Amino acid sequence: MLKEFDLKKDIKLDFTSGWSYDPAPESTDHVHIKDQYDHFIGGKFVAPQGGQYFDTTNPANEKKLASVAMGCDKDVDAAVKAARTAYDKYWSKMSPRDRGRYIYRIARMIQERAREFAVIETLDGGKPIRESRDVDVPLVAAYFFYYAGWADKLQYAFPGGNPKPLGVAGQIIPWNFPLLMAAWKIAPALATGNTVVLKPAETTPLTSLKLAEIIQEADLPPGVVNIVTGAGDTGASIVNHPNVDKIAFTGSTNVGKIIQKSIAGTNKKLTLELGGKAANIIFDDATIDQAVEGIINGIFFNQGHVCCAGSRLFVQEGVADIIRDKLIDRMQSLIVGDPMDKNTDIGAINSKEQLGTIQRYLEIGLNEGNEIYQTKCDLPDKGYWCCPTLVANVSQSSRLVQEEIFGPVLTIQTFRTPEEVLEKANNTPYGLSGGVWTDKGSKIFNMTNKVRAGVMWANTFNKFDPTSPFGGYKESGLGREGGLHGLYPYLKF
Ligand code: NAP
Ligand code: MG
Repeated sequence: MLKEFDLKKDIKLDFTSGWSYDPAPESTDHVHIKDQYDHFIGGKFVAPQGGQYFDTTNPANEKKLASVAMGCDKDVDAAVKAARTAYDKYWSKMSPRDRGRYIYRIARMIQERAREFAVIETLDGGKPIRESRDVDVPLVAAYFFYYAGWADKLQYAFPGGNPKPLGVAGQIIPWNFPLLMAAWKIAPALATGNTVVLKPAETTPLTSLKLAEIIQEADLPPGVVNIVTGAGDTGASIVNHPNVDKIAFTGSTNVGKIIQKSIAGTNKKLTLELGGKAANIIFDDATIDQAVEGIINGIFFNQGHVCCAGSRLFVQEGVADIIRDKLIDRMQSLIVGDPMDKNTDIGAINSKEQLGTIQRYLEIGLNEGNEIYQTKCDLPDKGYWCCPTLVANVSQSSRLVQEEIFGPVLTIQTFRTPEEVLEKANNTPYGLSGGVWTDKGSKIFNMTNKVRAGVMWANTFNKFDPTSPFGGYKESGLGREGGLHGLYPYLKF
């Protein structure tokens, strides 16, 4: 039984404020959010057959943004039929070069409306506008451009093979990078000649629906991309639909396992991009200040709502004290608050449920006897917030070290030798990503070869590029997205 904790009282508060920036809010004048959104099926916005809608809210002020259609089995069936018709009638018959042209058009229209997308992403999901504007939306355009380029070059991607599309791809995405995950899914599927039924997460459907508007304006043949909004059941309905040829899922490991079981014994192809618990490893020959920035970016980027977040910090003993002091110092300068303010470093936690999950983990940490440092932040009255948190004196078996928290919470452990840190880094059920900071190329090669993770960064963290494959080992999933590797799961030979 958990003891009841008053988190505010039990967590040590360390803070040294002194000065602050004036507010610099991004304007919303150029953004139009409708009161109500329907599904996008067969090239049109159509009302849900069950007649139900749910609210999507802004997690920074808890205000409703729009009503969104709740997808039922019949809606999913209509979307799959539209996707199949589009595949048979248009998309599989179109020349690869023309398919590429459509994808280029989508990429350019995203660039033209980049500010609008960034603002809506931030309003609906809570991430700082600086990130939506400078990271998410530019990457979305980059992924569409990149895969547009592959559309007419598949024979070069797979020399000697004769790659053919699979048919209809069912795609289910999470709330942490809503538009970017839609791009990771839709762009390679279209480039390889497949049609799509996509379901965004319940808390962040708006940028997918805006993307639907662009797809309509780009004049894609009706039914090539269909977007059905809804909850977990809507996702399950896509997974279980008999006429879907491939499932691409990004989300939690638990749901990934359910999906794997439900499609066992069918012919559906599957890619799973699941949770992570990345080790960020700092050797004593690393450039200390750069490493501290890398640690901050690794875990506090996007409120720690990042599957590949550097949530486990390992510091070599000789530099443990200096890194810890500099880290706490830097954490105190992070600005937490209104995601629409251009100065904000850490925005709102995506939902009340996710905030509850993070707080439960902090209670577990306190119960285990860890030292938990949280910076003092001046938080808005409404909305869901978590100040940057550091968990010290934590053991390898702690649940905070083993399980994905998906919030701005960093555990810190020390090590003496490369062998010790490898043992610790690989000792979780996950294997998505990791980082190593050192002056020596040989150490980088040694660690990146031996840390069992799909993505390894050296002297940097959380950098993404469309040409680079991304995906996990172990319970972090199967298959790769991005790069040439990301074409393969949408093709048969
Ligand atoms: P989630 O609960 O697994 O949900 C992901 C998506 O699946 C949502 O659209 C969700 O709908 C839907 N869903 C829920 N239950 C389903 C079911 N039984 N069948 C089919 N679909 C179902 O994950 P989340 O909490 O949204 O996202 C956070 C997780 O995603 C973290 O674990 C994170 O590490 C992982 N993630 C991984 C990557 C990667 O590339 N490896 C990238 C980003 C995130 P609702 O929204 O309506 O529940
Ligand atoms: Mg929302």
